[in-house]
Amino acid sequence: MLKRISFIFLGFFIFTCLTHQPQLNAKHSEFLESMVFPVKNIMSHFYDDWGEIRGSGKRIHEGIDIRAQKGSPIVAIADGRINTISFTESSGYYIAIDHENGWLSLYVHLNDDINGNDNLGGRDTAFADGIYLGGEVIAGQTIGYVGDSGNADGTVPHVHFEVRYMGKSYDVYDYIRSSWERFERYIKFPKKFGINLF
Ligand SMILES: [Zn+2]
Repeated sequence: MLKRISFIFLGFFIFTCLTHQPQLNAKHSEFLESMVFPVKNIMSHFYDDWGEIRGSGKRIHEGIDIRAQKGSPIVAIADGRINTISFTESSGYYIAIDHENGWLSLYVHLNDDINGNDNLGGRDTAFADGIYLGGEVIAGQTIGYVGDSGNADGTVPHVHFEVRYMGKSYDVYDYIRSSWERFERYIKFPKKFGINLF
């Protein structure tokens, strides 16, 4: 009997470990609620595609794709420090910002095109001036430009945007949508806002 009970407890313990996801607490909400919309373009389009199955069922999409005109400025969602500024075959040009509170934001597929010359751009077309590894950035600061580098080549220009807490990606679509609404209001009614929201 005792053995059976311990098995039940063990089973429950394993189940809890496997299914437990750290709940976002008030401190997290504070950070996410003050997030600046990552693309400075009023014609941005996005939907909740976090968790979509991509690559013919091979991978889960752990981010939100924000479509915008090629070359639109991408901005830091919050203050932080440039943690990664790099290039890989699949991600293309990308940047990660460490917000020094456990949160990391990622901006992927930055612009690698020069007008009329597909893929002939480079770090200059992808990253904004003054952005370097270890450099500090402030919320709303332009860090790079929307494009289709890496495996996004030939798709609608977009930034694959992702936020991670302690290395784990979270679906923060609701917060991104709120930041979009604040940005849209700011563009339409700028005089109502005393502070720069993007
Ligand atoms: Zn994506």
